[in-house]
Amino acid sequence: MESATTIAAIATPPGEGAIGIIRLSGPRAFAIAQQVFRRARGDTQPLQSHRVYYGTLHDPQTGELLDRALMIPFRAPHSYTGEDVVELSCHGSPHLLRRVLAILWRLGAEPAQPGEFTQRAFLNGKLDLAQAEAVADLIRARTDAQRRSALALHEGVLSRTVRRLNDEVLGLLATVEAVIDFSEEIGELEPETLAPRIENLIRSLEELLARAQQGRMLREGVRVAIVGRPNVGKSSLLNALLGEERAIVTPIPGTTRDLIEESFQVGGVPFVVQDTAGLRESGDPVEQIGIERTRRAIQSADILLVVLDLSEGLTPADSALLRHLPDELPKVLVWNKCDLVPSTVHMPEAPAMGVKATVALSALTGQGVDQLLQTLLEILDLTGVGDQSLLLTHQRHIHAVQSAHDSLQSALQGLLTGSAPDLIAVDLRSAWLALGEITGDTVDSELVNRIFRDFCIGK
Ligand code: GDP
Repeated sequence: MESATTIAAIATPPGEGAIGIIRLSGPRAFAIAQQVFRRARGDTQPLQSHRVYYGTLHDPQTGELLDRALMIPFRAPHSYTGEDVVELSCHGSPHLLRRVLAILWRLGAEPAQPGEFTQRAFLNGKLDLAQAEAVADLIRARTDAQRRSALALHEGVLSRTVRRLNDEVLGLLATVEAVIDFSEEIGELEPETLAPRIENLIRSLEELLARAQQGRMLREGVRVAIVGRPNVGKSSLLNALLGEERAIVTPIPGTTRDLIEESFQVGGVPFVVQDTAGLRESGDPVEQIGIERTRRAIQSADILLVVLDLSEGLTPADSALLRHLPDELPKVLVWNKCDLVPSTVHMPEAPAMGVKATVALSALTGQGVDQLLQTLLEILDLTGVGDQSLLLTHQRHIHAVQSAHDSLQSALQGLLTGSAPDLIAVDLRSAWLALGEITGDTVDSELVNRIFRDFCIGK
């Protein structure tokens, strides 16, 4: 399926660089590129695919020389998009690249929408939807663990698993529909043969879901909120966590913008700290929780670090704060300033629900900070997460697997309680549609558009 339009965009990031690449894709890509690019030595042979040509870029209207450049043509279907593609490697001047692009538009190319090259690759069957999403993950990966998991998704590890399971769903659906259509010849449904097959599928989906939250945290970052009354050392702890060797310099995309966020990585797992410590504080810690931004940081957190001052012990204000934190949220009690007390001093009991660990540390000297990080990885079951190829990393995929799981449960229930085959078929079909959304086999175009809108232009 080839698009009628030819699109063009700058494929390299904005700003000056050693080289800047402009990419064209579509039926007129070769024709348009050859109007601005002149091959060296008057080479007039037909263009060969996957070859690098050296030459010059000109404005065809005025003949003005714009740059020396390289051109690589990719003949359909052996290209990224599956269409004719041309890449022009110029010098990395933003002005030059914009100038060449404007000429390409004048010659009939259209500005590419965000992610449109990859979207065309998907529509032409070069990639399935999960693999296309993995392209964006790969570009955004900031740790080795993230890169490995994105690459596994891109290589089709999840897609193959999902397709295998969905073939089985389709087989079941065919069996049930055959009973509906030819009950005279085939007879009734046989729960004793069908139920174990559905149970197997349910188990496989449960295995995927079991590590789904780890996958999501690996891709999106673990959201941590630091809370505590003023002066316990929240800002100091944040600084200690952001130690140089752990710092992630690029911001995490897609996280809430209006909260102050910092990120760091441990064992390849990115952590996003919602810096409630940096907000203007009310003297009353309970009132502080009421402040909208702090409340949101707490609500969206995967885990809370509740900072307490070991040199002061548990104060009434600490107890009040602990009582007001949501019970169900996992918490680590961090007794800070351990450098101020003799090592014989024990950490006081603190009344709170959801406490997964208690650690003593000094944000000032750094003592105990590594222990806290290790504890976080263990509590969240993230140790060694970068070494496994986690299958579910996107909320969209988790949601689809959960939904297929629920439909299969319902189908199983129906089968065991003697529901009409039509109803069982409805559930099986829902499960099939849900799983198909992951690979894009059964997805609607609105969702596809939404997914690609998150890409950058030129990808
Ligand atoms: P916040 O108001 O909770 O963010 O607390 P700060 O991080 O601003 O720290 C309050 C005060 O405690 C500052 O003077 C810090 O230097 C000091 N402080 C923080 N952590 C430690 C620590 O581990 N040991 C000692 N001795 N002082 C600390």
